[in-house]
Amino acid sequence: MTAYDPNNIFAKILRGEMPCHKVYEDEKTICFMDIMPRTDGHALVLPKAPSRNILDIAPEDLAAVMATVQKVARAAMRAFNAEGVTVQQFNESAGGQMVFHTHVHVLPRHSGVALKPHGSGMADPEVLKAHAARLKAALDGA
Ligand code: AMP
Repeated sequence: MTAYDPNNIFAKILRGEMPCHKVYEDEKTICFMDIMPRTDGHALVLPKAPSRNILDIAPEDLAAVMATVQKVARAAMRAFNAEGVTVQQFNESAGGQMVFHTHVHVLPRHSGVALKPHGSGMADPEVLKAHAARLKAALDGA
């Protein structure tokens, strides 16, 4: 398997070298808004420790990520008045992965509203900021 590249974009965000619309952070994980959202409220949950994906992540980091995914999914239901949540995670290029630091997508869903294509248009930063604030408020009120 290819080695972890410490210059991937999420590693840069974790080191504070690139900005993000942060929603949540704890000792082992961070959550921020996806810059090309497939739905309103599309968020990503990452382990802070380096790993490419599910194939090399340490089980304790994976467990921490999934605990945060559950928190964010529950908050997303309230924050976006969602009827459901889709959780997605891609592994290696053949598996649809584009950024090689483990991350899980949390997508609030509404009946009859299709997901936009993966990796399509960039969102307005003001919209991402507002959605991050909504999700954060729901998490804080949890
Ligand atoms: P994938 O690796 O296939 O799960 O896709 C990577 C995801 O990261 C896509 O949904 C992108 O929109 C998202 N993304 C790429 N760059 C950034 C960034 N700087 N901040 C937030 N999300 C990003």
